[in-house]
Amino acid sequence: MPICQNCGYQWRWSESLKLTFNYKSTCPNCNKKQYLTPKARKRSSLSSMLVLIPLACSTVINMSLPFYFVFSLVIFSITILLSPFYIQLSNEDEPLW
Ligand SMILES: [Zn+2]
Repeated sequence: MPICQNCGYQWRWSESLKLTFNYKSTCPNCNKKQYLTPKARKRSSLSSMLVLIPLACSTVINMSLPFYFVFSLVIFSITILLSPFYIQLSNEDEPLW
């Protein structure tokens, strides 16, 4: 789970979930703005590529369309649900590269 770089507060899973959709958020404890580290941002963009797995599978196995959607949705949800576990915070908005 992410830890606030300003006050050391460990963010809750539900609090860090916001960071999955927006790379910056205010700390619930000290109200200081926290940003995702470039590393964590790169990792989250990599994990969003996991959604392509069903697409790759569909070229190998002949999947029906409803199954394909369910499969993509499951992978997408797992990616979102697990993302707070690898999030790291920074006090500054660091450039990605
Ligand atoms: Zn804090």
